[in-house]
Amino acid sequence: MARLIGWLVFLALVGGAYWFGSDYVRRHPQDVPWTSFELAHPIGAFTGRKLAALGDRPGECRALLGRAGVEHVPVPPRHEGPDCGYDDGMRLAGGDVRFAPAGVVTSCPVAAAIHLLEERIIQPAALRRLGSRVVAIDHAGSYSCRRLYGRSEGAFSEHATADALDITGFRLADGRRVSVLGDWSGDAAKAAFLRDVRDGACRLFATVLSPDYNAAHFDHLHLDQAARGSVGWRMCR
Ligand SMILES: [Zn+2]
Repeated sequence: MARLIGWLVFLALVGGAYWFGSDYVRRHPQDVPWTSFELAHPIGAFTGRKLAALGDRPGECRALLGRAGVEHVPVPPRHEGPDCGYDDGMRLAGGDVRFAPAGVVTSCPVAAAIHLLEERIIQPAALRRLGSRVVAIDHAGSYSCRRLYGRSEGAFSEHATADALDITGFRLADGRRVSVLGDWSGDAAKAAFLRDVRDGACRLFATVLSPDYNAAHFDHLHLDQAARGSVGWRMCR
């Protein structure tokens, strides 16, 4: 009898743990690696990896943007030699913000992450730190057929596949401007805003490099979706 009761208690514990686990997963799909991904989910522990993984699945990435109602304009594939080009390019439309210069084309995972960055990170941080919304994002481009640091040999940059975007600054609705070059170590509120953007981007991009990383990034935030697998390392500096 005691043995039977022991087994019943054991089964109840296992069942409870299973129920609790599956309920947790149902309520927090963003925090586990195996659940399906939607842009509407809150940003969680695996959001960045799920976004980067979409690099191999352009159709799925475009469908994701469509289901989330994100304005996106696919562009024709582009290829320059064996190392440069893309099949999943899209023109960043931006919704509430514009991009300056306009017409920048990125890979789909970068476009999806930029959408979340703008909506969930940039606008709340701008309101909190600066009391005004961002109306434009200044950037230094995405696609560029080049190697890391513009060297003549070595690995190609994520820019060579449009899988990166360099953000140089922001324009606010009240007319103020924030630049990585001028404000990273300047005005306290603007510097805090830029760090909020950098730290938030780290939850959405495989690689985020700021002026804290090295001198080559003194005037921009480099964001990319380098494919390093579902448990690959991430870089946030
Ligand atoms: Zn870059």
